[in-house]
Amino acid sequence: MSILVVGSVAFDALQTPFGKIDRCLGGSATYFSVAASYFTEVELVAVVGEDFTDEDARIFEGRKINLDSLQRVAGAKTFFWSGEYGYDLNVAKTRDTQLNVFADFKPQLNDRQRHPDVLFLANIDPDLQYEVLQQTERPRLVALDTMNYWISSKRDSLERIFGAVDLIIINEAEVRQFTKEANLVKACRQILDLGAQTLVVKRGEYGVLMITKDAIFAAPAYPLENVFDPTGAGDTFAGGVLGYLASRAEVHDRELRRAIIFGSVLASFTVEKFSLDRLREISLRDIHERYQDFRALTHFDDFGAD
Ligand code: AMP
Repeated sequence: MSILVVGSVAFDALQTPFGKIDRCLGGSATYFSVAASYFTEVELVAVVGEDFTDEDARIFEGRKINLDSLQRVAGAKTFFWSGEYGYDLNVAKTRDTQLNVFADFKPQLNDRQRHPDVLFLANIDPDLQYEVLQQTERPRLVALDTMNYWISSKRDSLERIFGAVDLIIINEAEVRQFTKEANLVKACRQILDLGAQTLVVKRGEYGVLMITKDAIFAAPAYPLENVFDPTGAGDTFAGGVLGYLASRAEVHDRELRRAIIFGSVLASFTVEKFSLDRLREISLRDIHERYQDFRALTHFDDFGAD
């Protein structure tokens, strides 16, 4: 069982109320791959520039991440994103987006990559997401993420890809921005009407809401005392969700619920430090311990059980 992911590998400049960093490793596919590789093999399709060094690529080393399709373009610069957070860490303010190598990126899957078990279209241009989907033989599960940048600049393209996937993972603010509907449940139903079976709404420190045609599931975020930098939480969450699902034989409601908790566990590690500094140092054991903490956090008996 393996996942093919296409998305950004980036350099980020970040400012949070707790610190500032001018250049660190980031990108939707970077966080996703490292998170998912705790559960399954990952095939990474992305592009970087000449400024992306072997030292930067170390993040993928020693993990089940295949880099054959991580293109390096000579004479060009890696995708760059600069973001800032105030005390409400749920809201990222984009200061600058420089597409650089992504402006001309045309992902070409090789024969092996055309038959992935699970496909994750991480946050990149929705037209590129669609092109990659078109190149695959319909995988068992196709999921995607996006962000406000693409909702405002490529709405029609997003609508097309929303209708072509099984699972959409998206922020609460983006659900409202896309639908212009204030009520979250109604807004989710509007997106599901485009064709996907499952919508997973990331609500930052308030957790996650999953909506399908027949069911709703809500999970809290892990109540951390020290949230340092929320960048990458969403992509890490998606990596945990899809990584876990790729490692299971079937995708049904119970597995989706477990997957959401694994995703939340992994995201809770990412936000403890800048960039992938925390995510890269954890073990499977840390992940399973925090999964058990989640069980305790959300467990309650039937009223009148004792
Ligand atoms: P998140 O998980 O939503 O916090 O995503 C953070 C990552 O998304 C950062 O490391 C950025 O490099 C990357 N990113 C930001 N804007 C874009 C964009 N327009 N397209 C692709 N990746 C982006």
